[in-house]
Amino acid sequence: MNDAVKEDIRDRAIDAGAVRCGFAACGPVSAAARRLYDDWIAAGRQGSMEYCGRYAEQRADPRLLLDGAQTVISCAFAYGYRGHDGCIVSEYARGLDYHTVLRRRLEDIGRYIEDTYGGQTRALVDTAPMRERYWAVEAGLGYVGVNNQLIIPGIGSRVFLGELLWTGRVEPDEACSAKCRGCMACVRACPGHALDGEGGCDARRCLSYLTIECRDALPPDISLGQGCYGCDVCLRVCPEGNIYPGGALPEFAPRPEVTSLTAEQLQSMGSGAYKRLVAGSAMRRVPLPRLRYLASLLAASTAPD
Ligand code: SF4
Ligand code: SF4
Repeated sequence: MNDAVKEDIRDRAIDAGAVRCGFAACGPVSAAARRLYDDWIAAGRQGSMEYCGRYAEQRADPRLLLDGAQTVISCAFAYGYRGHDGCIVSEYARGLDYHTVLRRRLEDIGRYIEDTYGGQTRALVDTAPMRERYWAVEAGLGYVGVNNQLIIPGIGSRVFLGELLWTGRVEPDEACSAKCRGCMACVRACPGHALDGEGGCDARRCLSYLTIECRDALPPDISLGQGCYGCDVCLRVCPEGNIYPGGALPEFAPRPEVTSLTAEQLQSMGSGAYKRLVAGSAMRRVPLPRLRYLASLLAASTAPD
C-alpha cells in the first residue's frame, strides 16, 4: 500500500490522541535485542515478575500474536501534567488506568483500518508479550535511554505506548537512529542503584518494581524517597526525557484524591476508601496491605529525627 495510506492512518492515530505514530515491518526482533532480554532473564534481574520469562517465542516474533501480521503500528500517548511535585504516586498512575484508555483508542483506530483498508488488526497495551520499546524504536518514534525508558526527541518520556498489529502492509518508517547522550544523570540519581549505565536495569533494585510488582520486604539499603507507588526519578533528571510535550489525554489528568494522598492516610485507610481510590486506576495493582506497608516505610523515612 502506498504512503497516502500510511499518512491517513497516522492522521487517524493523531486524531485519536496519539502524539506520535510509526510503522515497522512485523517480524522477529533482532538477535541482539533477543539476547539482551534473554540475558536479563537469565541473570534473574526481573525479580518475581515470572510473566517476563513466559511466551519467549511470541515476545521474539509478534507474528505469533496475530496470524498473518505484517505491520506493527506503534503509537505514543502523552500523560504528563505539570504540578503536584509532592505527590506520593508516580505520575503515570495519577489519572485513569492507561490500559483501558489506550485500548479503547487503539481499537477505534484498528476498526477504521479494517473498514477502510481491510485485513485484521489486534490492539496491544502492555498485556501481551510485546517488546514495546523495541518496536517504538523500529517504528521511528524514539530511542531507549540509559534509564531504560523510551525517549521521543522533543517529546520526552511521559508517554504510554500501545501497538496495533495489522495483517496489511505499508512501507516501514525508518528506525530511530538518535542515541542517548549518556550524561549518566539517571544512573547517579537512581535511589536503588538499579541502572548499570549501559541501558540495563535490575528490577530487584528499582523502586518501580519494588513498590508495584514485588510483595517482599524492601532491601534495607533502599529508601523510598518521595513516594509509595512507583518512581519517576530517572525520568525527571533526564534532560531529554523530562519534557511535558502537551497533548496529554484528559483521562490522565491527575485525580485530586490521588494528588492529595498522604502516607498517613494510606496507613490508616480502610477497604472502602481503598476501593474508591483505586477504582479505574492502575493503582489497583497494589493491594491495600502492601500500600499500607509502603506508606509506613515512607512515613518513617520522612519523620523528623
Ligand atoms: S524508576 Fe527509580 S528506582 Fe527505578 S531505575 Fe528509575 S530512578 Fe532507579
Ligand atoms: S539522564 Fe542522561 S544518560 Fe540517562 S537517559 Fe537521560 S540522557 Fe541518557
